[in-house]
Amino acid sequence: MPRPIRATIDLPAFRHNYLRAKALAPAAKAWAVVKANAYGHGLVRCAQAIADVADGYAMLDFAEAVALREAGFKQPLLMLEGAFDSADTRMAGALGVSLAVHEAEQIRMLETEPLERPVDVFLKLNTGMNRLGFAPEQAGALSARLKAARNVASVTLMTHFARADDETGIAGQLARFDAAAASLGLPHSIANSAALLRFPEAARDGVRPGIMLYGGSPMPDLKSAASLDLRPAMHLESRLIAVQQIEAGEAVGYGARFVAEKPTRVGIVACGYADGYPRHALTGTPILVDGQRTRTLGRVSMDMLACDLTDLPNAAVGSEVVLWGRGLPADEVASAAGTISYELFCALANRVPVSVI
Ligand code: PLP
Repeated sequence: MPRPIRATIDLPAFRHNYLRAKALAPAAKAWAVVKANAYGHGLVRCAQAIADVADGYAMLDFAEAVALREAGFKQPLLMLEGAFDSADTRMAGALGVSLAVHEAEQIRMLETEPLERPVDVFLKLNTGMNRLGFAPEQAGALSARLKAARNVASVTLMTHFARADDETGIAGQLARFDAAAASLGLPHSIANSAALLRFPEAARDGVRPGIMLYGGSPMPDLKSAASLDLRPAMHLESRLIAVQQIEAGEAVGYGARFVAEKPTRVGIVACGYADGYPRHALTGTPILVDGQRTRTLGRVSMDMLACDLTDLPNAAVGSEVVLWGRGLPADEVASAAGTISYELFCALANRVPVSVI
């Protein structure tokens, strides 16, 4: 009998979330960010779930662009890190995918490589993230060069926000972007999920929602996913496989990180860090047993974790456990583990069986 752990991908929820993103910026093209295997949810099935309404898909792995084209998707595709060598640049022309461009060599390749057909280019400006992109002051000269390049069909100006999800917001980066873009008359694509949800002025011509499509809040410290009308697209559940009764002073798990202060009923769940559950989740991380909220106890092991059943006298071997999803936001589990829901979703292990609704 297989271990009782399983993940369910809720495609209607994913579709609801995409339509919600589109409704926030009805005039913009909404690129569904499906990189990293659709944040762990399955690239092709997620793309399929919105195929009739999707304006385009954004990713950064050429293998993912190939997978979508081979599966028959004709929608626009955008490579968020562009192409890194001539083979990729040529492949962009062959697949008809758009390229983000953030370093000089990528522009040179677009000027010189023999591409099957010209591609749409997103000129990435570094307005403060200091990760990828050209200085905003270069926008005029570089966009002129790109417009003149034989392989470039169109140029869009793009940037990415570092703090759309916190109190600082986007004002500084937006001002730098707008100053650089003002006289150029080119389309803009700047908003990630947090900017789209919080700052209507960031909607512009194209938006790039990622985490909100999967039902994670991009700013869990400010607003929950439910309050943003986002539905969880991933539900991770398992069962109790053992129950222990321990006395005050006894410990649970590796390193004895939880020591009982009173007699405690401990449930052992078939889910560990080899399934993608965060090992950094400390005692007290929320978990549902038979639909009731309780807490984890002690260190997460490779294949198991422990939870507190002291106030759940009916819980027994076989009881249903929800690790995150419906009834337990991934954002809350992530926060207790010092991380973000993005990481939980992307880390779902291959060994976890997945069903799709
Ligand atoms: N745009 C770019 C360039 C990104 O790198 C990402 C994700 O990292 C996104 C958009 C989507 O961001 P989010 O998942 O926060 O909506």
